[in-house]
Amino acid sequence: MARETGSVCKKCRREGIKLFLKGTRCDSNACSMKRREGVGPGMHGSKRGKITDYAIHLREKQKVKTFYGVLEKQFRKYYQMAERAKGNTGKVLMSLLERRLDNVVYRLKFATSRSAARQLVSHGHILVNGRRVDIASYLVKPGDCIAVKNRPASIKLVKESQEIAASIPGSIPDYLLDNKTEIPSGNVLRAPVADDVSLEVQPQLIVELCSK
Ligand code: SF4
Repeated sequence: MARETGSVCKKCRREGIKLFLKGTRCDSNACSMKRREGVGPGMHGSKRGKITDYAIHLREKQKVKTFYGVLEKQFRKYYQMAERAKGNTGKVLMSLLERRLDNVVYRLKFATSRSAARQLVSHGHILVNGRRVDIASYLVKPGDCIAVKNRPASIKLVKESQEIAASIPGSIPDYLLDNKTEIPSGNVLRAPVADDVSLEVQPQLIVELCSK
């Protein structure tokens, strides 16, 4: 599976917004956005030139891709799906991204970051409706039950993460329900909408860029 490498904190500084890529560190004083607010990455980070209209649109797309941890090719697929679907393309796009299994595992607080959630899924610790699903991009749907595999190692791993994740501000969104069972599990109550996304984003800018 292709993935982006490099310093993740640089990505937040490039977008000028906290993207919460590093779990508990993001809410601590160690967050580079706190220490170097307004300073972009690199040697000339503090000297940003004139921002063009194209750059504004591009940054909006890059911000969303980084937030959900998806690469360009995959993002294009989501965009095409959103274009084919009924409704506002930008809002459908955000709903699709929010339905990713790794995102749902993170938002249920089974992991401290989306990348940790992706690892839980790809290492086979997560079941959807009783079946092992190790594809992070799997799209959940209303009625799905997301549970941790009934194996001591998987349960221990998730419970430890839950304890840490409980201290991270932000609650579980209301399209999900934490069943609070001995073996951690949750349900998808409804399809997420753009307003459920915990990132300030203007999907219309992404549509304007991608539809050209
Ligand atoms: Fe972004 Fe988290 Fe790094 Fe802060 S600690 S810059 S929020 S990834």
